[in-house]
Amino acid sequence: MPTTLLASPHDGRSRPLDTGDGRRGQNAAAVLRAVLDQGPVARSTIGRVTGLSGAAVSRQLAELADLRLVRERPVRAQRQAVGRPHVPVDIDVRHHVAAGVHIAVLHSTLVLMDLRGRVLAEERVPHGPDRSPPTVFADLARRTAAFLDAHGAGRRPLGVGVATGGWVDPARGVVVRHRGLDWRDVPVGPLLGERLGLPVSVDGHARALAHAEQLFGDERERARSSLVHLFVGNVVDAAIATGGSVHEGPNAAAGHVSHLPVGGDAPCSCGRRGCLAATAAERAVAGRAVAAGRLRTPRFADVLAALDADERWALDLLRDRVRVVGRAAALLLDVINPEVLVVCEAGTARRPELLADLRAEVARHSHRGGEVARRVVAGSFGTRALGVAAGSVVLRETYDRPLELAARI
Ligand SMILES: [Zn+2]
Repeated sequence: MPTTLLASPHDGRSRPLDTGDGRRGQNAAAVLRAVLDQGPVARSTIGRVTGLSGAAVSRQLAELADLRLVRERPVRAQRQAVGRPHVPVDIDVRHHVAAGVHIAVLHSTLVLMDLRGRVLAEERVPHGPDRSPPTVFADLARRTAAFLDAHGAGRRPLGVGVATGGWVDPARGVVVRHRGLDWRDVPVGPLLGERLGLPVSVDGHARALAHAEQLFGDERERARSSLVHLFVGNVVDAAIATGGSVHEGPNAAAGHVSHLPVGGDAPCSCGRRGCLAATAAERAVAGRAVAAGRLRTPRFADVLAALDADERWALDLLRDRVRVVGRAAALLLDVINPEVLVVCEAGTARRPELLADLRAEVARHSHRGGEVARRVVAGSFGTRALGVAAGSVVLRETYDRPLELAARI
């Protein structure tokens, strides 16, 4: 469909570069977020939602259109319509992509997403035997460049988001500690960004998914008010968000829930028994499948394959796990009292009945019973959550500081 670019108040003249931290940057972010939420949307509605004047909305829209982040989408006029045509505005998904690299223990996931948070392409890259950071990032830089060439379709990358488990400090761009990979103080920017020639941002995957839920998730209204995001994979992490922002705390160390006590006798690396990660992490579940004689090697992917093949033992194993997760979720709900608690876990992403089991366990263990159990939901991104986590690191920055990011690329 042909589109009309929004008129710019500065046509033909250069404009000063904004660093994005002033009022202009904040207003641009508010307008862009309103278009994301409501687009295609009338300018008058954007003004009502953001509290900005009509002139300010037009100014911001012109700037965002120059950056090709929004566009007008003319609608066919009703026959009886009179006066000026209604020309709504929408997110322009045609010109940019967000690239993402999620790093797990055994493999990485490459992703391309559009500005509406939709996954355009995804690829899984197994790690080789050498999982040292220089080797992994050299390989990822090569693969990401080829992935962008193959799937970018000429669209400009807004940057590369890197998400991983464990302790990540986004301000320094450093993976502080990742036990599964045995990484400490890994600077992601120099290892990946300089090779790709693109801005690289890094965050922990639970926090990245919390941002993604607030931007694009099924429960985004509640998630923007207050949210706990509980990630259960090979690493177990949480993110806590209130008032629209995700809490990091000193050195971005918030969300370390691996050693929450959930009962049971699984030995933990901390020396105690019954910690959450030691009981519910993927390697622990796969280890129980081996101990029960169901698998020869402790590969969690084989547990999921058995679940997909409707094997009863796999469903039982995952049911045991979601009950453990339910006990941890009850603790978090009682302490933090969020509007919504999102669980990102492979079983509940595949089987709704496992979410019901998880909620029942929350109801048994929370001090407020069934009332808070209803606040527990499965993640919005299903089996694509890892890639979405990575791409959302860039998209979140784009929506927080659109003028700044667009000026950088
Ligand atoms: Zn422990």
